[in-house]
Amino acid sequence: MSNEVIILGAGIGGLTLALSLHQAGIPCRVYEAVPELKPLGVGINLLPHAVRELTELGLLPALDKVGVRTQEAVFFTEHGQLIFREAAGQHAGYDWPQFSIHRGDLQTVLYEETLKRLGPDSVVCNRRCTGATQDADGVTVHFADTTDNAHVPPVRGAVVVGCDGIHSALRKQLYPNEGAPRYSGINMWRGTTRWKPFLSGGSMVRAGWLAVGKMVIYPIRDDIDDEGNQLVNWVAEIHAPQPALRDWSRAGRLEDFLPAFADWHFDWLDVPALIRASDTILEYPMVDQDPLPRWTHGRLTLLGDAAHPMVPRGSNGAGQAIIDARFLAGALKDMGVGPAALEAYDSVRVKATTEVVLTNRSNPPDAILREVFERSGGQRFEKIEDVVPTAELQAISDNYKRVAGYDPVALKARPSFL
Ligand SMILES: Cc1cc2nc3c(=O)[nH]c(=O)nc-3n(C[C@H](O)[C@H](O)[C@H](O)COP(=O)(O)OP(=O)(O)OC[C@H]3O[C@@H](n4cnc5c(N)ncnc54)[C@H](O)[C@@H]3O)c2cc1C
Repeated sequence: MSNEVIILGAGIGGLTLALSLHQAGIPCRVYEAVPELKPLGVGINLLPHAVRELTELGLLPALDKVGVRTQEAVFFTEHGQLIFREAAGQHAGYDWPQFSIHRGDLQTVLYEETLKRLGPDSVVCNRRCTGATQDADGVTVHFADTTDNAHVPPVRGAVVVGCDGIHSALRKQLYPNEGAPRYSGINMWRGTTRWKPFLSGGSMVRAGWLAVGKMVIYPIRDDIDDEGNQLVNWVAEIHAPQPALRDWSRAGRLEDFLPAFADWHFDWLDVPALIRASDTILEYPMVDQDPLPRWTHGRLTLLGDAAHPMVPRGSNGAGQAIIDARFLAGALKDMGVGPAALEAYDSVRVKATTEVVLTNRSNPPDAILREVFERSGGQRFEKIEDVVPTAELQAISDNYKRVAGYDPVALKARPSFL
């Protein structure tokens, strides 16, 4: 009888699970669909609750080499007027920093560390999962070779965890009648630009609002050349009736979104110049799925985007995948590798992430921008307090911290998952 945990997908969640199981002394192997892992994507943020977990895995020095410690979150109107400013990570008194980081850099850190600690055979690429069956003793997981679609011999394990992202094969098997991801009515254009540090040099900016155009901008790599430039990540979000194609690597067109930001020449940043100087432009629709009633079915379970895809409005997509992985590893360590641990994981994490998915739709941190836009009618103001009390904006931010699990007091008090 195999005691091995089979992990589907070498993304952020799958690799964090592999490292955490190794830390817990539990054997596992990762099966990844792509023939070769490439550092794809653009920027993401890791909030202190996620960085705590990566710190407990000993990865803080590696993150510091590639990411930028976020110093503050700053909110502006589409006129460039300051709305709200809040310190981030250790600058806000947390024991752990917040990182703004390239998704590919984060995945590379996790991948290299997995190969180093678990061995070169711990991640098997070119294995696209096509389904899984279970019996009293374990699971049998089926794969196709991604390059030629040929069937390859199935693999036996004790349990299987679908960390296979927004197009999860395991989720489709468990919920065959679920429809396509739910379009939020917003398309996103994303890119990275080499640029001089702006504001604090570690500022995460959110500006504007969806009706007229919203931007999220933050640096994700420091000192990328001899001129002191950073790599700056930007995301433009605009209401659009038709969703873009759901392909993480689909190229976007400047003319589809730049006009909305043509006048954004601010004293703190020239936004259209930043966009025009971008190395790449990618397009992606903002989608999520309605929360599932359960992820665990006996020896099968889901994790990360496969379990709870969410709209990226709270910097929690990668973070919640990391927390899932750590919680699940803790449960498997405490309860043994079997259905009981998967059930314990389900009973806590489904509820917790459902709240995050729904709050990301209704009241994520950028609801601060919505409140100001709606109450000011998109007009300039003299003082922000004339539009909305700062305490109310602080309450939006604090509520989200509680929902997502990084309220500073609760996070400090929470025992380690492992
Ligand atoms: C190529 C890519 C680029 C991305 N870029 C961004 C970005 O720029 N910004 C952002 O906010 N988020 C991005 N994401 C999503 C982000 O990584 C996730 O929202 C978050 O980190 C949660 O991670 P996850 O491990 O659940 O899923 P992911 O990181 O998406 O990882 C899922 C993994 O499963 C693999 N996989 C899929 N199907 C199968 C299968 N049938 N069998 C085996 N393996 C399978 C995928 O190849 C992938 O490696 C991207 C994801 C991908 C795959």
